[in-house]
Amino acid sequence: MSGHQPGRHFLQIPGPTNIPGAVLAALAKPTIDHRSDEFGQLGLEVLSNLQRIFKTNKPVFMFPSSATGAWEAALTNVLNPGDSILIYDTGYFASQWRHLATNLGFNVEVIESDWHTPVNAARLTEQLINDRNQHIKAVCIVHNETSTGVTSDVAKVRRAIDDVRHPALLLVDTVSSLASIDYQHDEWQVDVSVGGSQKGLMLPPGLSFNAVSDRALKCHANSQFPKSYWNWGEMLSHNKKGFFPYTPATNLIFGLQESLKLILDEIGLQNVFNRHARHAAATREAVRHWGLQMVCQDPTAFSSTVTAVMTPANGSANQLRQIILSKFDMSLGTGLGKFNDRVFRIGHLGDLNDLSLAGTLSGIEMGLKICSFSFREGGVSKALDYLVRAD
Ligand SMILES: *Cc1c(COP(=O)(O)O)cnc(C)c1O
Repeated sequence: MSGHQPGRHFLQIPGPTNIPGAVLAALAKPTIDHRSDEFGQLGLEVLSNLQRIFKTNKPVFMFPSSATGAWEAALTNVLNPGDSILIYDTGYFASQWRHLATNLGFNVEVIESDWHTPVNAARLTEQLINDRNQHIKAVCIVHNETSTGVTSDVAKVRRAIDDVRHPALLLVDTVSSLASIDYQHDEWQVDVSVGGSQKGLMLPPGLSFNAVSDRALKCHANSQFPKSYWNWGEMLSHNKKGFFPYTPATNLIFGLQESLKLILDEIGLQNVFNRHARHAAATREAVRHWGLQMVCQDPTAFSSTVTAVMTPANGSANQLRQIILSKFDMSLGTGLGKFNDRVFRIGHLGDLNDLSLAGTLSGIEMGLKICSFSFREGGVSKALDYLVRAD
């Protein structure tokens, strides 16, 4: 593709997401001295606003990295070499976390799933009861599995661990739910939460986060796992004055300052959650009318940020995405792992309004038609009806 594309590109992958103009403008500000008083003020402001986003009173750590880095930070700060952990494999992202933990030398136990359903607390309970000597030091789950569009109930997982009096820490990936689906780090007693900048926070990729508990900080103090760049200890002392132990991603932090202001003070966090839920419900109206299957097979676990859809019998999802990209300049999420070419994913998170969603669904309906897939026309109308009804 070359030359100017009229209109704007529709970036409807489930992250990176569309960036509001005010955030783009903030990213473009001249870089400042990261050891100046001005930076210290900025650092204090964003770290305290991040606590409001995670709903926590405890420190939130921020790294200049993709979210994968914050997975590594979560594990290496609270565990010891060779520790056992339990990962619930709800989809591609859970399996990537498992892969990373294995590479770091942890003994990774896995609860396998069919990638169509959320974390089943009863299966977790069973596994923890079987762990008689309490070898498992941490349970890792993904709150919103971006590869499948399935959201798990974190509070239920916490209760499952507590009910069997198992001392394992709870580590939760909230990368594609933070600032778009309600997430309560303190209330749900999560020990380490992992976040990233490029999804609900409406920023470019490049920042990642760890929210922590008192217990996680205690485990950190006793952790012998080798680490340096990811070490919370040095971060903590610098962060007290809004600084970082190495050069922070200054301009991304300008953007973060702006996006946090938008989300917390101008739009309101609860309004952000409601908007995402409403757009997700409208999307499902369209998908159901088209007669296509969603990857998520549990109606209580539909994601508010991403809908993963199976193509009709043997249709190539990659061909569909390619046609939609070339004809309508819209990017949809690819099927990940075993869903490659069988699934396309509609990202409806971040800076989105009713008409962006209408355009997104229209592009998909036209693409289905061009591909001659067997489906029922008129899904877009159903979604629009829903948007009008559920104002
Ligand atoms: C996007 C995503 C990640 C990975 O983030 P990177 O920035 O690519 O490292 C991890 N977990 C979930 C649930 C995600 O959606």
